Amino acid sequence: MASGRTLRSLTLAATFTFSATVQIETSAGDHRKSAFLLHSGFALPAVSGLSGELHSMSSSIENIVIVGTGSAGLTAAVYAGRANLSPLLIEGTLPGGQLTTTSEVENFPGFPEGIDGFQLMDNLRKQAAKFGARFEQGRIGSVDFSGQPLKLRTGEREILARSVIVATGASPRMMGVPGEKEYFGGKGVTTCATCDGAFYRNMDVVVVGGGDSACEEALFLTRFASSVTLIHRRDTLRASRIMAERTLAHPKIRPAWNSILTEVLGSPEAGVNGVRVKDAKTGAGRVIPCKGVFMAIGHVPNTEPFAQALDVDASGYLLPAGGSQVKTKVPGVFVAGDCADHIYRQAITAAGMGCQAAIEAERWLAEHGA
Ligand code: NAP
Repeated sequence: MASGRTLRSLTLAATFTFSATVQIETSAGDHRKSAFLLHSGFALPAVSGLSGELHSMSSSIENIVIVGTGSAGLTAAVYAGRANLSPLLIEGTLPGGQLTTTSEVENFPGFPEGIDGFQLMDNLRKQAAKFGARFEQGRIGSVDFSGQPLKLRTGEREILARSVIVATGASPRMMGVPGEKEYFGGKGVTTCATCDGAFYRNMDVVVVGGGDSACEEALFLTRFASSVTLIHRRDTLRASRIMAERTLAHPKIRPAWNSILTEVLGSPEAGVNGVRVKDAKTGAGRVIPCKGVFMAIGHVPNTEPFAQALDVDASGYLLPAGGSQVKTKVPGVFVAGDCADHIYRQAITAAGMGCQAAIEAERWLAEHGA
């Protein structure tokens, strides 16, 4: 069973050749040249030992590096691109972010009929590229924000930047129960109904969680599955009223209230064949037969590489500073989107933060002579 996520992932890989100019070649055959600034009048604060290091590592410093290409990162790229900053985006492991795994987005302003999440992000990516944003596939493993230039490491490569926008989003939370990891990715456990739902045609599936995501996943799965059991640890849904009502009214969906998932059952050959749940009140256990388990219990922010250099809260979300939503304690470093927002977590709020971060970065660069 293949995961649909790889099939749907954005594939506009870009290659870059840096010299006095940057040549960008996308797989779509779009060739572009833009001026590349080499230390152009930018006032670098003195950091002991840095200049010698700089020459041996790289002769170029990016104006602005945006880490993450979800709603926040791509919106930041549109704004930074239009400000002629030629932003470099690091794509991460899920180009386009969480929305690429969503089906219909009904609440993004400007689309009265709704829009497919993947399509929305593809549009946004094209919009960013149109204004000179450059894309590089990679995952930032560590950073050094102790002085200018800011340093980001992806594999063997070190990227130097005057300003950075961290827009790394959040990843699905897992339960950590036996069987979950063993059957993840093609053997019955998944976090994405949009990607994998079609593989469960005429089968019984379960969705774990009680929020909007769980409801959305459950409703989407009714298109394929014969039955959807919604396993929730309490007896009321956290989801918005409209979603909760729609979910509970659906004839294919049945709730398993006060039920805690304790184990995913199956065999290595045939994959998942059920889940074991425990009654939260009585402690009694039972097995729910199913072929698919869709985890929808919230998200964990993707902030690990930045947690030392920036402030994070107890859950790992990046904390802004200075009375701003997007500034951090490090000059020139900004945050945007779900990696720094555990309250709203909407595509539109992430886009708004991306816009703010790009405007702040642009101002910061202007103030420092770039
Ligand atoms: P969420 O609102 O945080 O809900 C997570 C759910 O998982 C809760 O019901 C929670 O139970 C349950 N849960 C968490 N940890 C658990 C554990 N260890 N074991 C069992 N259950 C666990 O997350 P979300 O549904 O992903 O939504 C995130 C945000 O995105 C929300 O603001 C939501 O409104 C928004 N969103 C909107 C839409 C839409 O408008 N179409 C779609 C998706 C998401 P408790 O309820 O007991 O805490």
